[in-house]
Amino acid sequence: MCPVTQKSNMSQTKYIFVTGGVTSSLGKGIIAASLAKLLQSRGYKTTIQKLDPYINVDPGTLNPYEHGECYVTEDGAETDLDLGHYERFLNVRTSQANNVTTGRIYQSVIEKERRGEFLGKTVQVVPHITNEIKERVQLLGNSGDYDIVITEIGGTVGDIESLPYIEAVRQMLWEMGDNNAIVIHLTLVPYLSAAGELKTKPTQHSVKTLMESGIKADILVCRTEHHISDEIKDKLALFCNVKREAVIQSIDASTIYDVPILMQAEGLDTVTLKKLNLPDEIEPDLSHWKEFLKRHKNPKDEVTIGLIGKYVELQDSYKSILESFIHAGAANEVKVKVKSIHSEYINDQNYQAKLEGLAGILVAPGFGERGIEGKIQAVRFAREAGIPFLGICLGMQMAVIEYARNVLGLTDASSTEMDENTGNPVISLMEEQKTVTNKGGTMRLGAWDCELLDGSLVQKVYGGAKQIKERHRHRYEFNNKYKERLEKAGLIASGINRVTNLVEIVELRHHPWFIGVQYHPEYKSTVANPHPLFIGFVKAALAHKKA
Ligand code: GLN
Repeated sequence: MCPVTQKSNMSQTKYIFVTGGVTSSLGKGIIAASLAKLLQSRGYKTTIQKLDPYINVDPGTLNPYEHGECYVTEDGAETDLDLGHYERFLNVRTSQANNVTTGRIYQSVIEKERRGEFLGKTVQVVPHITNEIKERVQLLGNSGDYDIVITEIGGTVGDIESLPYIEAVRQMLWEMGDNNAIVIHLTLVPYLSAAGELKTKPTQHSVKTLMESGIKADILVCRTEHHISDEIKDKLALFCNVKREAVIQSIDASTIYDVPILMQAEGLDTVTLKKLNLPDEIEPDLSHWKEFLKRHKNPKDEVTIGLIGKYVELQDSYKSILESFIHAGAANEVKVKVKSIHSEYINDQNYQAKLEGLAGILVAPGFGERGIEGKIQAVRFAREAGIPFLGICLGMQMAVIEYARNVLGLTDASSTEMDENTGNPVISLMEEQKTVTNKGGTMRLGAWDCELLDGSLVQKVYGGAKQIKERHRHRYEFNNKYKERLEKAGLIASGINRVTNLVEIVELRHHPWFIGVQYHPEYKSTVANPHPLFIGFVKAALAHKKA
């Protein structure tokens, strides 16, 4: 993965801070990613960082219902799902440095205090916590890899938790000076249907709240469900103390991938460059992006794929998987309709009714016992009915258990995660995990090598590659004691890490398309580089539907 365009030899990194007002969930991540895309496509090397104001050191210990999917970077950081958007939009890798939480800031300051780095001093929020925040922001800028760093401040202005971040931003703006650092404030302009009007007051108040902390917004991005008239833009500019051209409408879009185009039309990139005193004569080259959008919006066919998981009530839980289907759908020129099916409610009486008619079945990642029997049932159905199947992480483990139970006849086969005393632990705790007691950041994480078996289906899917590298997040593994028996019975280990000897991929010999992967391909799929496994899976689903 590399930047689409690399040029510019700017001596000084410029900083853009994105804050949010009025409510949460306005889509700061998408606005940040869209602006970054526009700047990148003008040749500026751009990265995005997310500062999260919670005490968890990372979101790895959070339930998906709390915070959506936990996104994993190449270097094994467990991060906010917004980093997924950054990678998908920019096609540039992020790392631990791109996501910092209050917990991590405090942990680092407290460790420094214990080492005696502040000896003799009282350690305080200002300056010690704010200095640590500033250092984390400038870490990316000082790497020399980027012309522009966009830092998204999580939460909403006015929150108690955000205060140290806002203060750190105020100090950086003061230190860096005009034209080197700016603030984009994302707010909501709600529509009152009784009055038939868009209301600017919440935005005025939120800009004022920001002002109370000594920060003047340079640009306002206004989320709205209705077109914002020139008159309202004038009013927003006057009362919020921003230039008229710096009032940007962000109207609801049918897809997040439209947002860079909409932001370009509104001039977000031009006004940003102007404020940063950067040349804007190079027009953004969005030809590839537009081609993707064209394919996405004009599918020639349609397939329905079942997503079997236990967090299906919350779409954000499987964000990267859903986005990977969008990328792969566009690549195949088909619309992928993802039907979320709750694994907890699949049983041996109803599985047929629930799964019939699907062109493909994906069994999702997950933790713990809840819903696993439904997942196993879904694997069995896909295997027996010859429906294209993709099992991801826990989904792959369920495929191994299903085969051991129903083909090898080891009826008690299980994972020691679900049943510690199973007589047939076909999935068991990795050796190096056995002494691990802490839960945070201790799984097998990040990118690991995998060698593909010559002549395997998965090798074909990966375009004939011999070696791949994919991202992991798990504690349990395929138990090699069962490898020979499973392979003899037709479930092949088609991807192996030669150093650890861990099985990374399984596939079925006599099946049109049945692949289980111990890693998470969804983290690496981007608009510019749709993931081959998803492309192959959608293609197989289409073939299945047509047959
Ligand atoms: N719970 C399983 C493990 O830890 C699978 C994890 C996952 O699906 N990400 O190995």
